[in-house]
Amino acid sequence: MRVAVFSTKSYDREFLDAANATAQANHEFVYFDTRLTPKTASLAAECPAVCAFVNDDLGAETLEILAEQGTRFIALRSTGFNNVDLKTAAELGIKVARVTVYSPFSVAEHAVGLVLMLNRRLYRAYNRVRDDNFSLEGLLGFDLYGSTVGIIGTGKIGIIFAQIMHGFGCHLLGYDAFPNPKFEAIGNTRYVELPELFANADIISLHCPLTPETHHLIDASAIAQMKPGMMLINTSRGGLIDTKAVIEGIKSGKIGHLGIDVYEQEDELFFRDLSDTVIQDDAFQLLQSFSNVVITAHQAFFTRNALTDISTTTVSNITDFEQGHPLKNEISYQPLMA
Ligand code: NAD
Repeated sequence: MRVAVFSTKSYDREFLDAANATAQANHEFVYFDTRLTPKTASLAAECPAVCAFVNDDLGAETLEILAEQGTRFIALRSTGFNNVDLKTAAELGIKVARVTVYSPFSVAEHAVGLVLMLNRRLYRAYNRVRDDNFSLEGLLGFDLYGSTVGIIGTGKIGIIFAQIMHGFGCHLLGYDAFPNPKFEAIGNTRYVELPELFANADIISLHCPLTPETHHLIDASAIAQMKPGMMLINTSRGGLIDTKAVIEGIKSGKIGHLGIDVYEQEDELFFRDLSDTVIQDDAFQLLQSFSNVVITAHQAFFTRNALTDISTTTVSNITDFEQGHPLKNEISYQPLMA
């Protein structure tokens, strides 16, 4: 099948080509660096399938152009699908599939990396020592052992994160719209309602999807309930956090450390080299200026293991569609999602 693959980098091509060869699928991948938007959708002309990533715009306008050009299938190279207008896709007869599972260790381990980096100020220590500055001023951390970690979303990634933090000797508080028995089986864990989690957690890590319900879950009122100096980690989706409220929370000292791998307006920034550009996003630049904030550019998934899983499942999703097999990873529109 001829597939227009958007937002591709060298590593996407390498792993997709390898998966295509291993499965002997013979799909014809047409690679584009550019994001999929209404302006670039014409590149997919004559491609029955489109392969897209997290910051591609699969809103109604793009989908209508794709449908008119003959696209019938969208293969997402991600688990999250908040960037797709599923209702419009269903109305246009476009099927959508995603990568339901890929190494959850990749994202969970990155979240733990952010915790360690922020707590022990490793980013400052690294630069200081390279500068022959061996002072410890400003590097004071706290023991993770005995601290309380709040985990919002205890699915595949949240559970692995919980298991690792349990290994450090942390007390774990969980919140999930659909509690997971695996969480309670870890031990030293308890499901609570959000106000209790906000009030007691030294560290809060977000692992739920971005939905209308979870949009700006961390807003001014949530931050007001948190412990002074707490650490907030977001490796899930930028829209879970109200950036303005978080900036105020950092300024007031409520949020003592912020580690984010995702950012609400990241589609204008991430996955490209803008080092010679003047960044126009003032909120992002302000965040960057705080000494207790660490930002990575949506790299939590970025391990060899995860890229292999993503590419293998993507190729298999396209083959299932091409051969008319049931789409095991299909995301069907349900009115409740709206
Ligand atoms: P998952 O579906 O296994 O788990 C999500 C959990 O969130 C589920 O237990 C679900 O019940 C819970 N949930 C749903 N709605 C909720 C709500 N309103 N309040 C609280 N909990 C709610 O998904 P996963 O594989 O663990 O991935 C979690 C998220 O991580 C994805 O949605 C995606 O946005 C993000 N992600 C980020 C990266 C990255 O590179 N930064 C990579 C992969 C996934």
